[in-house]
Amino acid sequence: MTTPNQDHAKHPAVVLAKQLIACPSIAPADAGVTQVIGDRLAKAGFEVTLIEQNGVKSLWGCAGNKGPLIVFGVHSDVVPPGDVCDWSSLPFQPEIREGSLYGRGAADMKGPLACALVAAERYLASSPANSLRIGFIVAGDEEPANNHGTNDVLEYLSRLGLQIDYCLVTEPTSLSQFGDTIKVGRRGSINGHLTIHGRQGHAAYPQYAINPVHRALWALHTLTEREWDGASEWFPATGFQITNVSAGTGANNVIPGKLNVSFNLRHGPGLSVSKVEAIVAHAMALAGLQFDLECRSDAEPFLTQGGGFTDLCCEAIRDVSGILPERSTAGGTSDARFIAPHCANLVEFGLVGSSSHHVDEHVSISEMAMLTEVYETILQRLSGSHPVSQ
Ligand SMILES: [Zn+2]
Repeated sequence: MTTPNQDHAKHPAVVLAKQLIACPSIAPADAGVTQVIGDRLAKAGFEVTLIEQNGVKSLWGCAGNKGPLIVFGVHSDVVPPGDVCDWSSLPFQPEIREGSLYGRGAADMKGPLACALVAAERYLASSPANSLRIGFIVAGDEEPANNHGTNDVLEYLSRLGLQIDYCLVTEPTSLSQFGDTIKVGRRGSINGHLTIHGRQGHAAYPQYAINPVHRALWALHTLTEREWDGASEWFPATGFQITNVSAGTGANNVIPGKLNVSFNLRHGPGLSVSKVEAIVAHAMALAGLQFDLECRSDAEPFLTQGGGFTDLCCEAIRDVSGILPERSTAGGTSDARFIAPHCANLVEFGLVGSSSHHVDEHVSISEMAMLTEVYETILQRLSGSHPVSQ
């Protein structure tokens, strides 16, 4: 077990994370980060394939040739830093202050990526006759809305006929304390857009106009208040969130001709695009509104079915951190949604994510040492206890 007071600044995962953070890899630019990761994987004995599509560089790395395949799902890109003047130190010049590593991507997810890579290196070095294959899906563009990287690699794997037995996505899942939360699924996400038609007119003569804002208010309110689906054992109740609203010409004396409303629902398995469309359309029709409606799913919900792998991961986290994690499906989407249909045993576990996407993103370097140990323990135990596989 790692002693908390140990100086972790020289820990290989911390050193590697600094190298990765120094590359400003805001997709589709990779700023050399793919090369750093690819070289390191190759040095550890991985066969590395560069998959370049739509100007995005992603990697598939695989080590070992027998036994079940465990894949680390990682991404090498980061969100933009915003105004660098708001940062205490420059976002792409990693710095260690008071036991924490600062820099864009420290938590999401160059820190955890480095921990996974070092854990794999250690496992491969200490278990030369291992019975596990280890893979890395390194997506070059997880952060933008229209990301492809993970899917590009998955397509490549399906062409090879490779089946993923276990997957660990290294998103920052810990909430306030390292080890407190592991993700065993994620909610789905449905986005919709409504255009509600009225009739433009003079604000002084409303009798000759139809104000779509007035007409729509009550119907929209009922949608925000309704119970979409109740909470279940693994998923919280779904909520309807209005995300964008626009109407009007900008003039004070014109009643707008139409109202645009965008909305989002984070949902469990009980809800679908067609159900949402039917409910929204019914509310609009009840209010006598003329409207156009489009809905689409950006992420399907999923839940890890395999209890054995989840138990093994939770026990490894408890043994290293002293905390038994809570199993959760809360939060936003991640690339786990793309991998889940290809792998029944998928969990997400990483560092404390409270500063990810924020100014002064940082992680504790002693927790990076613990995370490395958790990942290595999972590899060791998985390889030693095969019955959890087939
Ligand atoms: Zn991430």
